[in-house]
Amino acid sequence: TTRLRMSTAVAEAPQAEAPETEETETYAFQAEVSRVMDIIVNSLYTDKDVFLRELVSNAADACDKRKLLMMKEGVYNGEGGVKIKADKEQKVLVVEDAGIGMNKTELVNNLGTIAQSGTAKFLQQVAEGSVESSLIGQFGVGFYSSFLVADKVEVVSKRFGDKQHRWCSVPGGTFTVGPDNSEEIEGSGTRIILHLKEDCDEYLEDYKIKELLRKYSEFIQFPISVWSEKV
Ligand code: ADP
Ligand code: MG
Repeated sequence: TTRLRMSTAVAEAPQAEAPETEETETYAFQAEVSRVMDIIVNSLYTDKDVFLRELVSNAADACDKRKLLMMKEGVYNGEGGVKIKADKEQKVLVVEDAGIGMNKTELVNNLGTIAQSGTAKFLQQVAEGSVESSLIGQFGVGFYSSFLVADKVEVVSKRFGDKQHRWCSVPGGTFTVGPDNSEEIEGSGTRIILHLKEDCDEYLEDYKIKELLRKYSEFIQFPISVWSEKV
């Protein structure tokens, strides 16, 4: 595979560009969110495996949202998918989707506020169109189960035609959101970067990832590819 990516030029001139002075800002997790994170980490530590199911389910939800939008516009031709990459050297596991992505506000709201349901919001938005509703996740644990296996989580995300932003959890009940200049996501999507905890090396192993996918993510409607380094 190639590391080279052509930068995606947006065809139309961007309207009302955000000022270039945009900076990374620090936000406090809502108290309820901090509590949920604590509860997850403290009560599910014997069942760490679930994190992958949750991330893949979110990735699939995001691909579904994008599919619905594109179908409404009549431009869907089967895209969407989830890529999982393990970097053993950096001890990093990446779950990347070609889904709808999140803009800055969505990163702040959806990943810092438990009460927010982006899915419900989205469903409201597309309620006018007759679209299948099988896309609502029924998973109680969700995104924050990332912290079962990672002590630092980064979320790089991009809405179509928007700028790419990065959400990053930092210790002490806060997270940051700001502009991101790392490898550009093509079109739209989300890249979840898990900096694995000391005792979570097994999640870098091809067999383990595939085992979990077989076990938990059998019925995901989008292609899932596992990329591993050949050593
Ligand atoms: P749920 O999936 O039940 O809504 P989660 O905690 O798993 O709850 O996720 C919270 C929200 O964060 C989602 O509703 C969605 O809006 C957003 N989100 C999480 N992961 C992604 C992703 N990969 N792509 C786009 N949005 C996401
Ligand atoms: Mg979820």
